[in-house]
Amino acid sequence: MITGSCLCGEVKYEISGKVGDIVHCHCQTCRKAHGAAFSSVAAVNDHEFHLLGNVTLGCFESSKGKKRYFCVNCGTQIYAKREGTEHIVLRLGSLDDDPQSVEKSHIWLSQKASWYSLRSDVPEHLEFE
Ligand SMILES: [Zn+2]
Ligand SMILES: [Zn+2]
Repeated sequence: MITGSCLCGEVKYEISGKVGDIVHCHCQTCRKAHGAAFSSVAAVNDHEFHLLGNVTLGCFESSKGKKRYFCVNCGTQIYAKREGTEHIVLRLGSLDDDPQSVEKSHIWLSQKASWYSLRSDVPEHLEFE
């Protein structure tokens, strides 16, 4: 079982199946929704994604037929769902466990933040510095 939760802990979920290949999405909508350079996502089958407890997620329809679900208390993005599909698109930043899946691609680079580069010599630190 792979588990995840929101920042405040009100939303918790379990995944009983596989997490799909990882996609990093740089579209403007993802950047705004996540307040970040990009959003890292992967597909999970509807029937293998289980919200725990009796929690109601907030929801925003960011484009027609596509809804983004988040914790109403702390704002953590949990998943998106497109009408007529049988999977959710999980927001991987909410995971507490390793998804045991592989990175597949970066998409929507046409809308990438101008201040972010995929390949760069920016110094890396294990913690805040
Ligand atoms: Zn929360
Ligand atoms: Zn996107």
